[in-house]
Amino acid sequence: MTSIIESAVLRAGTTPDTQVLIVNQDGLVLYPKKLAGQQQILPKNAAEEPAWSADEEYVSSIAPVPMSLGSDLSWSVMVRQPLETALQPAHHLLYKLLGLGVLAAFLFTAVAYYLARNLSKPIEQLARAARQVQDQRTGVSFPLHHPVREISQLGRSLQRMTDSLLGKERELQEANASLEATVAQRTEALTQANAELLQLATHDSLTGVHNRRCLDGKLEECSQLFRRTNRSFALLLIDVDHFKSINDNYGHATGDDVLTRLAQLLKRNTRATDFVARYGGEEFAVVLPCGEDDRGPQEAARNIRAGIAAATFDVVGKVTVSIGGAIAYASDPDAVALIERADRQLYQAKQAGRNRVAFSE
Ligand code: GH3
Ligand code: MG
Ligand code: MG
Repeated sequence: MTSIIESAVLRAGTTPDTQVLIVNQDGLVLYPKKLAGQQQILPKNAAEEPAWSADEEYVSSIAPVPMSLGSDLSWSVMVRQPLETALQPAHHLLYKLLGLGVLAAFLFTAVAYYLARNLSKPIEQLARAARQVQDQRTGVSFPLHHPVREISQLGRSLQRMTDSLLGKERELQEANASLEATVAQRTEALTQANAELLQLATHDSLTGVHNRRCLDGKLEECSQLFRRTNRSFALLLIDVDHFKSINDNYGHATGDDVLTRLAQLLKRNTRATDFVARYGGEEFAVVLPCGEDDRGPQEAARNIRAGIAAATFDVVGKVTVSIGGAIAYASDPDAVALIERADRQLYQAKQAGRNRVAFSE
């Protein structure tokens, strides 16, 4: 019987784990011998699974064997296979799918890495180079060659734009530098012109000492200072003796040279705090601050006269001057009163024979 069943059920290709059981209507195993007498709980409905013991799991199929009518004997043929054996192909399929999943994940990672390397990296390079341009760094270079045409085009466009911008900036810097140099030149020329203008406005062009307008300003300034501080000052008027005859004998140009030399002698024979001016024609004026000793201006006047008398002038030889001096009073309404007093003394000096000093007491 065993060989009949095995030849009928366990044909070639059937899994060796497959078991064939023959059970009677009470569920007792009739075949195989090793399980004979075991109780198998058959389901009432053929579609249901039989209930195995707890530690066993099977996939099974039950076929009741039809018997002649009126027979009490009935039995069924049951073919079962352990669940694990039955699910083995499914497990294999699951492992294959898992393997495919791992492979797909690896491929996806590789593709992502490739894209990052070939797309993100050059874009990052472009962004970094653009930031360097923004920071005004020099020698910035964009990636110009790339398998993706759009990226290499973008790199070339940005490089051209940067080169053009840097070129323009350089031109602008050069233009700025040249503009600054021109402004500096003009400023220097203007400063010089201003200084020359100031010199012209305040100094006599022939002799180089202060001019009449500047003298008027100085006298006004000293008068105000006198009123505020009660410190007086003195005025000397200096007139060249017989200057007309110098012009007549040696010419006007020589007369000019004499005036220039006289101005130098006046500067040399006064102190730095004294103010020397050309009063007009061949007359000069010196303004002196008064010290404790009010004989100071008279002493200064005598020094000036003596210094000039001792000097020898080119062409003309000796030249003398007469000096009239006066001290400012607090009662003077303006500088004119002082000038008039000094002028009167000058007249006195001339009258007294020239080459002398007369001082208003
Ligand atoms: P005195 O001793 O009385 O002062 O005689 P003086 O000849 O100096 O008197 P006067 O005032 O008559 O002569 C002054 C002369 O100075 C007259 C004028 O031609 C001359 N003079 C005035 N300004 C200049 C000048 O800038 N250059 C020259 N070379 N001569 C001038
Ligand atoms: Mg004169
Ligand atoms: Mg004179």
